Amino acid sequence: PTRADINYFGAGPALLPTEVLEDAAKALVNYNDTGLGIAEHSHRSEIATTIINEAKADLASYLDIPDNYEILFMQGGGSGEFSATAYNLVGAWVARKHKELGSEDSSAEKLKSAVKNLKLDYIITGGWSKKAAAEAERLFGSEHVNIVADSRKSNDGKFGTIPEESTWNLSKDAAMVYYCDNETVDGVEFPQFPKSLEPKGDDGPIVVADMSSNILSRKIPIQNFSAIFFGAQKNLGSTGITVVIIKKSLLPQPSVALMKQLGLPIPPRILEYEAIAKSNSLYNTLSIFDVYIAGRVLKKLLQQYPDKVQGQQAVSESKAQLIYSALEAHPSVYKIVPDKTVRSRMNICFRIQGSDAAEQNFLKQAATLGLTGLKGHRDVGGIRASNYNSVSVDGAKKLASFIGTFASQGGN
Ligand code: PLP
Repeated sequence: PTRADINYFGAGPALLPTEVLEDAAKALVNYNDTGLGIAEHSHRSEIATTIINEAKADLASYLDIPDNYEILFMQGGGSGEFSATAYNLVGAWVARKHKELGSEDSSAEKLKSAVKNLKLDYIITGGWSKKAAAEAERLFGSEHVNIVADSRKSNDGKFGTIPEESTWNLSKDAAMVYYCDNETVDGVEFPQFPKSLEPKGDDGPIVVADMSSNILSRKIPIQNFSAIFFGAQKNLGSTGITVVIIKKSLLPQPSVALMKQLGLPIPPRILEYEAIAKSNSLYNTLSIFDVYIAGRVLKKLLQQYPDKVQGQQAVSESKAQLIYSALEAHPSVYKIVPDKTVRSRMNICFRIQGSDAAEQNFLKQAATLGLTGLKGHRDVGGIRASNYNSVSVDGAKKLASFIGTFASQGGN
């Protein structure tokens, strides 16, 4: 098959726009008539700096990111950020406490006792937030990790809901409250920013979100977040860079000596946001090719949607609606996995009531129509249609239509 024959619903990496790839293929051989390919130019060259700065400016424009935030291009993926967020926000918390308490000798003891109560808060709504919390426990010890809520507790041990905010057990002065805005494996998405995390004056809460699988698909209230991160490979570009959007005031880290005195770990330099920010994301060799691809995708989005991310949001919602409606039309055949109130617009997870064999059959028949990448995550099985930005309205219509046909032919 050719690209044109395929509608791909894989969970990531996702498809990239064909014209971006065609231009990139040329750029890999000879970038802008320089005789060198884009992956061969030095990351310290003016060419690289221009690509980085334009991608930052276009991302800021598309998502309406204010000036008091820094945009970082990193490596290590979403998984690297599970560690980086914990390290850096603990550092920022210590820096803040240190400033509040002053640097007299007597404050050292006070700081030590404050550290005993150090908490990292996690809201667990799926496999990825669960992994992030486990990483924080590994780095800081479970005594410093507070599970604010775990949706499995009120749902028979399964993900698929978001616990009522009134039941959340938030710490008083957490170094951060962490959540995953869209759980890729479980198909659970926060419908909007949680009310109980809204800013209360200058005192936080410090909110960190993993937006790996739904960034660039809806408007987000950036000012409510201390940090947002996402791998490029689903809605932004090619696999290889990770983006962090962080409030500048949270960048400064305490001295290594102070952290050691307090018995707290310091991040490897490569995960330290302050170091990455100071070098404009060039602390070490960055994949400029991936930033170039991300930049091209952003330029395309900005051209396509005069009202920026809100334009994409409307399209994302209508594509998701098409697919969910087709599933809902046949309740005896399909079971949508998550609760209706928290269904993801990006990862549509469902089961076929009949059997595993019926699911296999669904996947096989879909593939013959060029509808591919629909197999659910290996941890949960079932079927998952990932509805990222690169899925066309036409592709969503084709899938919706096949969902209907499969059901009307017996659903097995
Ligand atoms: N967070 C979410 C929501 C994801 O979907 C993924 C990967 O699919 C990750 C984190 C991990 O990202 P990476 O594979 O880039 O480490």
